[in-house]
Amino acid sequence: MKRKWSPRQWVQHLFLGIVLFSGIRFYLFVANLEKGIMPGFHRPDSVDAFLPISALLGLRHLISNQTIPAIHPAGLVIFLIVCGSALLVRRGFCAWVCPVGLLSDYLDTLNAKMFRHPPVMPRWLDLTLGIIKYVVAAFFIFQIFFVMPNAGVDGFLNSTANRFADIKMLWFFTHITPVALGVICVLVVLSLFFRRFWCRYLCPYGALLAVIGLFSPARVHRNPDRCVGCKKCDHHCPGLIAVSRKTTIRSPECLACLRCVSQCPEKGALSFSYFSGKTGISPEVMTGIFLVIFSLGIGAAMLTGHWQTHISADQYLAFTAQHRTAQAFNRRAALSQADAAEMQRIMIRMRKQKEKSLSAGLHEEARPTRADPSHDGKKRQGLGLH
Ligand code: SF4
Ligand code: SF4
Repeated sequence: MKRKWSPRQWVQHLFLGIVLFSGIRFYLFVANLEKGIMPGFHRPDSVDAFLPISALLGLRHLISNQTIPAIHPAGLVIFLIVCGSALLVRRGFCAWVCPVGLLSDYLDTLNAKMFRHPPVMPRWLDLTLGIIKYVVAAFFIFQIFFVMPNAGVDGFLNSTANRFADIKMLWFFTHITPVALGVICVLVVLSLFFRRFWCRYLCPYGALLAVIGLFSPARVHRNPDRCVGCKKCDHHCPGLIAVSRKTTIRSPECLACLRCVSQCPEKGALSFSYFSGKTGISPEVMTGIFLVIFSLGIGAAMLTGHWQTHISADQYLAFTAQHRTAQAFNRRAALSQADAAEMQRIMIRMRKQKEKSLSAGLHEEARPTRADPSHDGKKRQGLGLH
């Protein structure tokens, strides 16, 4: 029998649909530009969600100037919504909205099918790798908020690199290099063996939400009086948390997925709630939280003119035309470089052949042959060997 989707899965697939719709629309937008055609539709601004560095710089700009930047403001709006959600429901974004989180769920399912006892990292390695995402997040935050001068932030926000970062991001995937593809494949394979490898060890966005989530009053609470110790919660927890051994889950790895709550056979033994279990948050409430904060945040940004980027379609067209010219130039340069290299190879080959035939000739001449005794004589005379 086909299993019904949980509210969380509905929300995840809804957001995946939005991401795919925006991604395809943006792809068509750029495809038109690449052909030199002005697209007859607007660029989907939601693609700015995939520019987290631009969003972080936008946040710095907002703090310093009290204004939302005009370039890719949607990225900053989504970033603020996501960080705000962490104050409400910790890393719920990872488990309820993020498409990579959904992919990790599917890989988790495969992992469960492949292994009766899924492989687990040794504790020391798990702790060591677990630091990586915090180091990466801290590096960017430190550089952007404590090292870069204000002028540098504004310079970057208005630079070509940032203005057209969305197109470059698309080209990264549409013209993916073998190295990048290899890295993605390795990460997928690692995630097949080790649950949520990317989310647990490498995602800096997850690290930031984990830290903000520490300030959230929402926690999973276990009532030891109701718990029968079946450990189903431990088994289903994607954050690998020993839920059955704690009364309150404070771990930054808790994704607020509510799997432990839904799998617990004892009513009232587990709850995801505010303030020591007094205000329970059901999956339906979580669904409402995400739909409401995203709709309200994006709606407010649209109404106040902080959603659309201030880059005109003409500027996008000019950028792609410039890129096409640069590419054609590079191709020609590469071809003439290849021609020069080929010419050099041919010349080296010819020189080697000439040297070989010369030395062979000398060798031939120096060697006496029975068939030509006169030659032997001449040679001997010529060489002064009597
Ligand atoms: S503790 Fe519960 S809510 Fe948190 S990640 Fe584990 S299963 Fe999900
Ligand atoms: S699933 Fe529920 S009953 Fe079982 S160990 Fe966890 S909290 Fe206790």
